[in-house]
Amino acid sequence: MTKAFDAIVVGARCAGSPTATLLARKGYRVLLVDRTSFPSDTISTHLLHPLGVEALARWGLLDRLVATGCPHIHTYRFDFGPIIISGSQGTEKSPVAFCPRRTVLDKLLVDAATEAGARVRENFTVEEIVIENGRVVGIKGRSSHGGSSIDRARVVVGADGLRSTVAEAVRPEHYDERPPLLAAYYTYWSGLPMEGRFENYIRDRRGFAAMPTHEGLTLVIAGWPYEEFAKNKTDIEGNYLKTIELAPAFADRLRSAKREVRFAGMAVPNYFRRPYGPGWALVGDGGYNKDFITAQGIMDAFHDAELCAGALNKAFSEEHPLVEAMDEYQWKRDARVKPMYDFTCQLATLEPPRPEMHQLIGAIHGNQKAMDAFARMNAGTLSPAEFFAPENISRLTDTA
Ligand SMILES: Cc1cc2nc3c(=O)[nH]c(=O)nc-3n(C[C@H](O)[C@H](O)[C@H](O)COP(=O)(O)OP(=O)(O)OC[C@H]3O[C@@H](n4cnc5c(N)ncnc54)[C@H](O)[C@@H]3O)c2cc1C
Repeated sequence: MTKAFDAIVVGARCAGSPTATLLARKGYRVLLVDRTSFPSDTISTHLLHPLGVEALARWGLLDRLVATGCPHIHTYRFDFGPIIISGSQGTEKSPVAFCPRRTVLDKLLVDAATEAGARVRENFTVEEIVIENGRVVGIKGRSSHGGSSIDRARVVVGADGLRSTVAEAVRPEHYDERPPLLAAYYTYWSGLPMEGRFENYIRDRRGFAAMPTHEGLTLVIAGWPYEEFAKNKTDIEGNYLKTIELAPAFADRLRSAKREVRFAGMAVPNYFRRPYGPGWALVGDGGYNKDFITAQGIMDAFHDAELCAGALNKAFSEEHPLVEAMDEYQWKRDARVKPMYDFTCQLATLEPPRPEMHQLIGAIHGNQKAMDAFARMNAGTLSPAEFFAPENISRLTDTA
């Protein structure tokens, strides 16, 4: 069999383009395909936490993002009604977050893959994963101009999102699955200045968040429990505005702003998939997904890209057997994201904070160091496992 490529990456957004870039930079022959073209939007808000920003810096792409005029975010503010926790979410090395439009971020990532030497094929839909003797050996797809082709590779990486064609073909083991928990809708507003803040409002079975993005716009997303999805979808705008009215001061600010586009939104399932097998790998949402309430997906996709490309490099260069290297990818991924996965699934129920949480929030209120730690935990800069460790909680509450 002629192996035309070392790796074929299906899907060219947050997970796929960096995977292709990192492999191509190592000198591997990479084909990156996507059924869409870039720039293009996708249904997703786009808060990029500091550790995601740090990944862009590592890849030499942060300056390009900054040059697009995307405003930075220096403070995360959590409004629980009677109590507000406001803190710095970053690290000394990577202090700020951004909320780049996906039209801008994803294009920047695809361009980086092209520059690294990956062959990029846009408007190309993968219709079939080619499997021979139980091993994935390539893809069969069609370009929007009508031409169909088969390409072969040592590994096909599925970076093709929630409804991954690669995952559908290889049927990986699923584990720790939870159903959709939250339904949320977002839109963009002009005339709603945020002064460098990401604001989060937590109310009984409701929540919303606001963050500044490109072109002087502010993204505002509002949500309710998934049980209300069907009922509320008949009046998205009414339910969205009613949710925002739960925080009257913010609702006042919104009244003087202008909505610029239609609402978009959805609900997503929560799952882990085994991310590798004979001739295939999964990264990003294709490999695991959790509710967007903690806005970790883009950053996690970046981490997957680094871990998976690193593992493939070890295998291709014969430093480690493929299975060993990919097994390390899986356990490193799972160990890193599992505490945030559990925290996110709890938060996405929108149930009122438990009494211990109330007590904790009351205890850290006004203690800047503790509030920074809370902001860092929500940003994924500090693991929830570390933040909620009993000794840390006693330290925080004793100080209070
Ligand atoms: C409502 C909502 C809000 C969110 N908010 C945030 C947030 O604020 N911050 C954050 O970090 N994350 C957020 N997320 C999560 C984030 O969008 C995802 O985690 C992230 O997009 C995952 O990137 P990906 O590259 O794995 O997949 P995707 O972004 O889904 O990209 C998959 C790509 O694969 C391509 N593709 C699929 N099938 C094929 C095929 N057969 N052939 C060719 N191409 C194919 C698609 O065209 C697409 O371009 C949100 C998600 C939702 C739904």
